[in-house]
Amino acid sequence: MRKLSVVVPCFNEQETIPIFYKELRIVLAKIANDYQLLFVDDGSEDNTLKIMQLLSKEDPKVNYLSFSRNFGKEAAMLAGMRHCGGDLVVVMDVDLQDPPALLPRMIEAIEKEGYDSVAARRVNRKGEPPIRSLFARMFYALISKLTDVEIMVGSREYRMMTRQVRDSILELNEYHRFSKGIFGWVGYKTKWLEYQNIERVAGGTKYSFWKLFKFALEGIIAFSTVPLKIASVFGIFFSVIAFFIIIVIIIERLWLSNPVAGWASIMCVIVLTSGLQMLFLGIIGEYLARTHMETKARPKYFIKEKKIDK
Ligand code: UDP
Ligand code: MG
Repeated sequence: MRKLSVVVPCFNEQETIPIFYKELRIVLAKIANDYQLLFVDDGSEDNTLKIMQLLSKEDPKVNYLSFSRNFGKEAAMLAGMRHCGGDLVVVMDVDLQDPPALLPRMIEAIEKEGYDSVAARRVNRKGEPPIRSLFARMFYALISKLTDVEIMVGSREYRMMTRQVRDSILELNEYHRFSKGIFGWVGYKTKWLEYQNIERVAGGTKYSFWKLFKFALEGIIAFSTVPLKIASVFGIFFSVIAFFIIIVIIIERLWLSNPVAGWASIMCVIVLTSGLQMLFLGIIGEYLARTHMETKARPKYFIKEKKIDK
């Protein structure tokens, strides 16, 4: 068996890390004799880093990276994937919502069935606030219409891949990362495993509704230029209408001598069109802002401390 690296982003996870570690060791002992557990501390404010340090002292298979501040889960996954040494890499959450019980099937799919990557998706969202599930469903419906990458409903960032797939993913060097899209975009033969939603073992979610909303927007803008094109479609539509209205008004004025009344209707049109103009300027602004950030090409994170065995 090849060496397996398990990349685990953690942000304020002092309660969950020990539970995760215990559970994962049991599973890994059965399926892998050579593995590396790479925790990424995403600028936690609690004892997350201390726990990682302790674990890595006790167990040489445990490695860690620690960021200078909170850079977000995307940055943490990226850093972990860059620094891991395994021939197989798996990215998973620390809260056991990505069930370790799937790991044996993931390894089998790659080692025996010839897949390059194995992804997981939840088939339900039991235990989640209904409003969150509703918006999530809307997001998947929208993004699958707007982009050509396949983003499965309920897909997670829980994925095992060969080193080749990992290298391809790392070649995408964008600042605004949306891994759910990137994983699909690179291609390769992927197997999907389904499972029932599991609630967090301890602690609370790190994603507020607002943070999730921004994440969704990030995903759409990173993978689709359709919103930009909608502006052109609306522009053409309204120009054509305006053209006909002008003709009608000229005819009424010159031949029918019908002075046009209607302050109210003009106001409606002005308010509508200027509102739309603002909306589309806003959309263009969103893309421009991202281009601005990409051209700066800032580092996506800073590592303050690390322990990685070669
Ligand atoms: N996480 C992170 N940085 C952040 C937010 C979250 O590394 O800024 C990690 C977190 O520790 C967990 C995973 O990302 O391992 C998923 O977070 P969470 O369980 O809070 O998200 P949810 O499952 O509620 O969507
Ligand atoms: Mg979670």
